[in-house]
Formats: sequence, structure tokens, C-alpha cells
Amino acid sequence: MKVGILTIGQVGEEIAGSLKDGLERIFPDTTCRVLDEKPQFLEKAFDKKRRQYRSNVLLGEIQAFAAEEEDLDRVLGVVDVDIFVPELNFVFGEASCPGKAALISLFRLKPEFYGEASDAELFLARAMKEAVHELGHTLGLRHCHRGSCVMHFSNSIFDTDKKQMLFCDDCYLKAALSINNMG
Ligand SMILES: [Zn+2]
Ligand SMILES: [Zn+2]
Repeated sequence: MKVGILTIGQVGEEIAGSLKDGLERIFPDTTCRVLDEKPQFLEKAFDKKRRQYRSNVLLGEIQAFAAEEEDLDRVLGVVDVDIFVPELNFVFGEASCPGKAALISLFRLKPEFYGEASDAELFLARAMKEAVHELGHTLGLRHCHRGSCVMHFSNSIFDTDKKQMLFCDDCYLKAALSINNMG
């Protein structure tokens, strides 16, 4: 599949490039590129009361963007702001399941957010897990009961750190089949 990484607002070039390389390694038959577009819809999603950004508004904008991009099978939006859905304090990401659009936030993946020393390797591993997880949802995958599988639900950063950035065998087969069916 062809994946475009869409950075929205301030997102480091380095992390976007590392995600591109990592996603190509994990998903079969997949090429990935960091898009040049600089979308301007971030502030539209800001919630003044919560001082966070609405995940569903951002995902809707990414969906609209993705619908126009005929040469891309999936678009992964990346933000570095805190995102939420009304029923939760925050989310690490959101995706259409199945669909063409996914979103991850880097905001709560940095060790600094938890008062720890910065750690580029840990930060990238967390970003990869969230990116693979949300793209997995776009391929129709649901949450997996296996705690080590990347499709396991993350309620907190501890859950994210516990799981691997890889699919379990069952989830990998489903993902590969879904990619295969794109033709
Ligand atoms: Zn999920
Ligand atoms: Zn699984």
C-alpha cells in the first residue's frame, strides 16, 4: 500500500522520516512518503475549554484530504498537540476502521511529558507503535486481546511501552490480506 505521512502544525522532520522508514519495514508491500503539504486546519480543532484539540475534527480533515489523493491508499496525520475525544481525557490517536485516514499525536509519547529525561529511541518506538496501531485500524483490524500485539488497546503510556511495534501472527495475516486486496 502507499502511505502518505501528513504533518499537521509543528512536527519534527526527523521523527516523520523515521516513521516513514519504520512503517515500510513493518507493513508488507508498502511504500511511504512524507508529504510536502502544510495543512492549516489545526486551530479549527482547538477546544478553548479543555485547551486540547478535537481528534474527530482533525480526523475528518485528514479524511477529506485523503479522499483527494488518488495515488495514496492511506494518509497518516501526525500532530504534536494534545488530542481528545469527549468521553476520554486524551487519546494517542484515532482512525477510520476501515478507511483511508489515521491520526496520531506525539504529545504524550515524549518521556519529557512524564517528567523523564528525553530519549529519542523510546520516543520513536512509542510513535511507531501508535502509527502501526492506527494504520492497522484503517485496514479493518480491531483491538487484539494479546498484550504484546501492536493492536492491543493502549489506555496509558505503560500499555504502549508493554506492547511490541509488531502485529501478532493473526493480526499480521489480516493486515497482509487487506493490503493484498488493494490490488
Ligand atoms: Zn485502537
Ligand atoms: Zn494481534
